[in-house]
Amino acid sequence: MSTNSKTKLLVISGSSGVGKGTVIKSLLEKCSNINLSVSCTTRNPRPGEEHGVNYFFLSKEEFKESIANDDFLEWAEFSENFYGTRKSYIEKCLNNNQNVLLEIETQGALQVKEKMPEAVLIFIAPPSIEELEARLRGRQTETEDAIQKRLNFVKLEMENSKKYDYIVVNDTVENAVNKIIEIIGV
Ligand code: 5GP
Repeated sequence: MSTNSKTKLLVISGSSGVGKGTVIKSLLEKCSNINLSVSCTTRNPRPGEEHGVNYFFLSKEEFKESIANDDFLEWAEFSENFYGTRKSYIEKCLNNNQNVLLEIETQGALQVKEKMPEAVLIFIAPPSIEELEARLRGRQTETEDAIQKRLNFVKLEMENSKKYDYIVVNDTVENAVNKIIEIIGV
């Protein structure tokens, strides 16, 4: 599987609390020629999430069967659940000369880069760790222990992001989206 010179395989990652979801939503609104890949996960659906729209929600057994069948371009364990990108959708987009975007965490992104070096990896970073910590605390939904775990994970992700092609600082959503459009040129 590979991309031609015009079609792009884009991978965007970013730590939780960094506003990645808002940036991607705005990017997709502005660029109708980018298809978002729907991942598989073993986590439970959150309120309002739909099978086939937000994720394909699989049991652990189904997920392991897909791994055994070599269905995934990449997969990773995150927060005690499995997440993975099915090869079939990516192949379909690239064969039809369509751009495709994966919104995945860093372990998976680095697997994609290894298999498809032409993939463009973009990491959305917070203006600073302090700012991210303030955003996480501002949500007031998590315990101190959970916040500390997340912050440690953020540091690991920032370490992985050194292998990305681009790092975009999310100071404002508009700036971040414009920067991404400039990078990918679609
Ligand atoms: P959430 O459970 O909040 O939807 O996602 C948790 C994390 O899993 C996010 O960082 C998200 O980017 C990542 N993720 C979602 N789909 C995939 C996937 O297919 N592969 C990998 N490696 N990570 C994914």
